[in-house]
Amino acid sequence: MTAVGIIGGGQLARMLALAGYPLGLTVQTLDPDPGSCALALTQQLVGEYGDGEKLRWLAEHCHCLTYEFEHLPVESLRYIADRVPIFPPLEALGAAQDRAEEKTLFRELDIPVPRTANISTLAELDAALTDIGLPAVLKTRRLGYDGRGQRLLQDRRGLATTWRELAGQPLVVEEYVPFERELSIIAVRARGGETAFYPLVENEHRHGMLRSSAPCPEDPLNQVAQQYATRLLNAFGYVGVLVLELFEVNGRLLANEFAPRVHNSGHWTIEGAQTSQFENHLRAILGLPLGSCRPVEHCAMINLIGQLPDPNALLAIPGAHLHVYGKHPRANRKLGHVTVRERDPVSLAQRVQSVRALIDSPG
Ligand code: AMP
Repeated sequence: MTAVGIIGGGQLARMLALAGYPLGLTVQTLDPDPGSCALALTQQLVGEYGDGEKLRWLAEHCHCLTYEFEHLPVESLRYIADRVPIFPPLEALGAAQDRAEEKTLFRELDIPVPRTANISTLAELDAALTDIGLPAVLKTRRLGYDGRGQRLLQDRRGLATTWRELAGQPLVVEEYVPFERELSIIAVRARGGETAFYPLVENEHRHGMLRSSAPCPEDPLNQVAQQYATRLLNAFGYVGVLVLELFEVNGRLLANEFAPRVHNSGHWTIEGAQTSQFENHLRAILGLPLGSCRPVEHCAMINLIGQLPDPNALLAIPGAHLHVYGKHPRANRKLGHVTVRERDPVSLAQRVQSVRALIDSPG
């Protein structure tokens, strides 16, 4: 049987495993948490992501390795890359780990970005704000996710305090983009270079965290988003799923960041597309033909954050599909998601409203 190793044992690894079993794969994960949420579904090695011995074991026992999040020690992975194929390429992982490097790459590829400056002192921040203007967003270059490691700067008051909260690590400051919509494009590239794209997804964030996503296949911006994603895929000779997150401002797209992995804004593809992002990622890294990314009906995905609704009430809503990740409830933790799929957009909107009402008052 073909064995796939996944570095990381969170919900993305769990959903990759769920997509892999019908293909006859076995899935081996590596995660430091002995209670990781992929544990129930995969064979897990408990160890740090950079644990040389565990990584060598994975290299010896798996046909191919992949990863489910960005904050991994690239050097440790490079060490085993000559023993086992690792996809997506580590160059893409390295670039996605550093917001400054990522923005430089976007510029080199002629992908528009918000105005940004790299800073390491309060004086540099002050000078950058004169250029960029206010409001602005201060972000750590590394290890930021779900809105962590960033602060909105409305004015210069409290600048020194905000600086102290994040100082001591490399930072970037970006113009605050008064976007009309946040969008993402999910692309996949096979080992042989074939590419496929899911339709643009409209995303709603709250406090920096994704709340809901819905594909918009008819959106006129699909074409330009695909062009930008193609430039990234080609730059790396990429293999696997890549997600590019974008802001729409005055009908133009600005790139915010990219993820070299399956992504929360693609969870709707499990029920909503002919082939899910998880299956297509596995197909790509294993050198199998890609499946169609075409949506099958209208759909929307809503994250379950902090607490879970009553499954009886939720599953009574027609068209609703529940995914529970098996994690302990905690504030601001993604515990699961719901995808609603419907033949017509009006019933979809009604069903989504019912799901939201239930989530907002789980009672
Ligand atoms: P990030 O970690 O960069 O994906 O940021 C998380 C969320 O914060 C984004 O999805 C946006 O909602 C918001 N955000 C980040 N950067 C900016 C920006 N430059 N302008 C406006 N909103 C932003």
